[in-house]
Amino acid sequence: MRLATKISAFYLTATVALVVVLTAIALIAFRAFSLTAATAHAQSAAEIVRVHLTEAMLLGTIGERQRFLERLRDVNNLKKAVVIRSPLVDEQFGKHRLGEAEPDPIERRVLTTGKPYFETVESITETYFRATIPYIATSHGTPNCLQCHMVPEGAVLGAITVAIDLGVLRQHAILTVTGIVLAVALFAASLLWLLHRLLRPVTITAQEIADVVHEGVEGRFERRIHHQSADETGLIAHEVNRLLDAIERAFTQISEQIALVTGWRQRQRNQLQAGVEAVTTMAQIAHFKQAIEEDAHTSHIYRRLIHVSRTTFSIPEIHLLEVRGGEITAIAPDGYSHLSCCPACDPLIASQPDQCRAVRTGDPIDGLTDPTLCVAERVTATHPNHGYLCFPILFSGQVGAVVQWVVPLEEASRYLEAANRFQLFLKEAAPVLESKRLMEQLRENALRDALTGLRNRRFLEESIEMLVAQILRRHSHLAVLMIDIDWFKMVNDTYGHDVGDRLIVHVSKLLTQSVRASDWIIRYGGEEFMIILVDATGEDALPVAEKIRTALESSPIQLNDGTALHKTISIGIADFPGDAAGFWQVVKFADIALYHAKETGRNRVVRFTADLWTSTANGKY
Ligand code: GH3
Ligand code: MG
Ligand code: MG
Repeated sequence: MRLATKISAFYLTATVALVVVLTAIALIAFRAFSLTAATAHAQSAAEIVRVHLTEAMLLGTIGERQRFLERLRDVNNLKKAVVIRSPLVDEQFGKHRLGEAEPDPIERRVLTTGKPYFETVESITETYFRATIPYIATSHGTPNCLQCHMVPEGAVLGAITVAIDLGVLRQHAILTVTGIVLAVALFAASLLWLLHRLLRPVTITAQEIADVVHEGVEGRFERRIHHQSADETGLIAHEVNRLLDAIERAFTQISEQIALVTGWRQRQRNQLQAGVEAVTTMAQIAHFKQAIEEDAHTSHIYRRLIHVSRTTFSIPEIHLLEVRGGEITAIAPDGYSHLSCCPACDPLIASQPDQCRAVRTGDPIDGLTDPTLCVAERVTATHPNHGYLCFPILFSGQVGAVVQWVVPLEEASRYLEAANRFQLFLKEAAPVLESKRLMEQLRENALRDALTGLRNRRFLEESIEMLVAQILRRHSHLAVLMIDIDWFKMVNDTYGHDVGDRLIVHVSKLLTQSVRASDWIIRYGGEEFMIILVDATGEDALPVAEKIRTALESSPIQLNDGTALHKTISIGIADFPGDAAGFWQVVKFADIALYHAKETGRNRVVRFTADLWTSTANGKY
């Protein structure tokens, strides 16, 4: 219930109660007063009658008392005036009546008891006061009753009954009470009006405070309290307005600062929620930034971006595309493995990155508002009621990666809002990803041979331990093939280094074509190569080596002068751990086998045997 209503109700109840109590008190007081006055009047009338009758007796005019009594009834408000004789008087003077009435039961009782009787008779039509007052014989008054009456002292000689009309009094009482009630009601109404005027500023301010607080709880602080009275209520209103100013200023500053730092403009009308969201997002971004800076590889960052999309933004399906060297490859959800292409795009983009609108423009693509935006998307065809959002990640102005969200269309606005925040994460991720990718590229270059693109000796030295551990765990074998081009120096000397280089590249290609992708091919030295066949023994390697040897033998390189240059290779094979417990010892054995191949005519494959080691040790070679 509102304060004003409550106070008015309370005040009205108090006023009604006051009027009722006042009326009751006035009525009771009036009644008591009327009865006291009527009793006094009745007693006076009785005494006057008694005096008159005694005088009449003494003057001998008692016979005319009836006329006196009748004239007495003409007195205003006196309804009845009758005299009754007692049986004692009848006994002494005889039962001759001079207008006295026959006593009624009340009068008979008064004659018997000698006690006066008073009664107020009230009906709808009339109200009157009846009094029956006895005349008591006494020898002390003047005249002495007992001089004439032969009765004992204190005997009842008769009685008089008078009835006094109280109607006029009652009318007066009603008028007076009505007057009091009206006066009190008028007074109460004036007070109520005054109270209402006094309370008005309080109730208006209270209502306005309730309204602004209600909006404040919902995060809106634009509204102010307009009613400003010049009292404590006005002061409260003023202070509340100041508080609202401060809160609004603080939230505006927060969002401006965030927009300044991040470029992210919040669309939230709820400033409280917007504030919490802003601080939460900033904290998440700070945490994310720290995490990616400490990540060792780009794959970890990719995995983290997928994780953030999934957990922070509740994105059901995420695809991550890496743009590298004019190609697009999709990164699997684990961040490490690569897929052939994005499952929600035209496979064409794998070899033609420009077909991807995000790559071509470098701008985010909103496929929720306009699904036809990108011609290479396949989401609308493969995912009914879904749309896409693509976010390019720029590395020094070039698109280095693209994150694609596939989301239900029904919650498009929520995802568009989430997209704004997600781009803050991408903004942080981009430079870190770029520098990590650069580092990886440098490292990759350091581990590859520039001429052939094969792994180099450094790679072998850094990685072999891991492979050896795997082989030992699986109780498997590695076949180590040492390969050297025969009479290579002569090529350099005869045709020049360029032809020498071409030959090296030619051999490297032959080697790559001759073994599985899981086998290792290493440019071990100038024109020396090493092949490690994984899960193969020295014996398994023999046909492979033979295939390589014959492949080169039968594929000469064409020289500029139209002639063909036929070259051969020699190969030494050893088995790990079949030939030795240490890998580098096995490499040495393969080298000895190669040496043996050279020594025994070149263009040969030689499997290492213990006796070769012995003859080497004996210094035969
Ligand atoms: P052999 O049959 O005994 O192996 O005879 P060879 O002439 O091949 O002898 P050797 O293996 O000692 O010759 C290696 C030469 O390869 C020496 C070096 O000048 C040349 N060489 C090393 N790396 C490169 C390279 O990258 N390009 C070119 N063109 N020549 C290289
Ligand atoms: Mg050599
Ligand atoms: Mg050689």
